Amino acid sequence: MPSKCRQHGINRAPVGPPVAAASIYLDHQATTPCDPAVVAAMAPWWSEGFANPSSRSHRPGLEAAAQLGRSRQQLAAALAVPPESLVLTSGATEANNLAIKGLCEARLSRGRHLITVATEHRAVLDPCRYLERLGFGLTVLPVGTDGLLDPAQLEAAVRPDTVLVSVMAANNEIGVLQPLEAITAICRPRGIAVHVDAAQLVGHQRFEPLKLGIDLLSFSGHKFYGPKGVGALVVAPGVELMPQLHGGGQEGGLRSGSTPLPLVVGLAEALSRALADAPERAQRLGQLRQRLWAGLQVLGGVELNGSAEQRLAHNLNVSFEGVDGARLHSALRRRLAVSGGSACSSASGEPSHVLLALGRSREQAAASVRFGLGRFTTAEQIDQALAWISTQLQQLR
Ligand SMILES: *Cc1c(COP(=O)(O)O)cnc(C)c1O
Repeated sequence: MPSKCRQHGINRAPVGPPVAAASIYLDHQATTPCDPAVVAAMAPWWSEGFANPSSRSHRPGLEAAAQLGRSRQQLAAALAVPPESLVLTSGATEANNLAIKGLCEARLSRGRHLITVATEHRAVLDPCRYLERLGFGLTVLPVGTDGLLDPAQLEAAVRPDTVLVSVMAANNEIGVLQPLEAITAICRPRGIAVHVDAAQLVGHQRFEPLKLGIDLLSFSGHKFYGPKGVGALVVAPGVELMPQLHGGGQEGGLRSGSTPLPLVVGLAEALSRALADAPERAQRLGQLRQRLWAGLQVLGGVELNGSAEQRLAHNLNVSFEGVDGARLHSALRRRLAVSGGSACSSASGEPSHVLLALGRSREQAAASVRFGLGRFTTAEQIDQALAWISTQLQQLR
């Protein structure tokens, strides 16, 4: 890019973040670094290939449209879905909003009740609460102390007027994997649509949403080493939605707005690459997570949050006993990039609604840390992190 700028006579120092030399990044559930090969794959589509893929009256536009088709095909193949089922969005937040509001609006005459779970991301809970304010019935199911939904509770909550059940695949704070097959088995025969926020699972584990009986599936590129600002909603064939953005009619009329082709190229490339090394990565990071957990247990006074078995390999969430949460986090952040909950809840300073839903007290929730390991995490970093936590805990306890 800088060489391109110089060609055009612009000579400015690149703008970048300050170098956080001493920080060990263990916050991969908030976001991941974009794979350099993905950045390279996007590059030509910002410059020479800049044309609008909706411009069908000239050759550059047609070439952009052809690339959009190839990237859509690449995404579809990775998820084993028809290319037409993909609605490209700005990320999982937008995909969730389109899925939840779009489906409820399309089924207004069939019923006005929806069901979700207390540990969902705000990008699911808030659209559901919005619909509740408009007059929909909303049931928010609790989870067990292991963070898992009990399918029997879902079965008991469904009503004749239930139109949608929204349950995430993998939790962004505690990494637990919800029992999706049991959920679709309950909803399918009753004609209830199932939406799954899979922002933390797509790209980390190969899975086929349509085979599982999922109607709507959201994901976001930057959670699997892709670019920020792009994602998609998979809409199973035959499922009807009302658009939430009206305009030029892109994405089959479901999501108007000029398609950001470079981001879509990056999204597709990132998904292919992330899935290619997903099994190896999960195995390696599972071992590093075990090393971290074993080291923390030696320090004593730590409790695991979320099921030990039904979880992502690269996530660990623990509560520290006998220490003030605010002081713990301010000590840890001098050396570690970790978080207390989701990126959103840590910004508000509120204790995590996910940890409260597991039965943790406000104090325990505040003294909890989410460790999100990623592609470049090393054993040395884990050991350095453990050493830092150990000395900080000794001073604080
Ligand atoms: C990150 C995340 C989102 C939001 O994704 P955006 O890219 O910020 O729109 C939604 N749900 C879950 C589970 C997430 O982890």
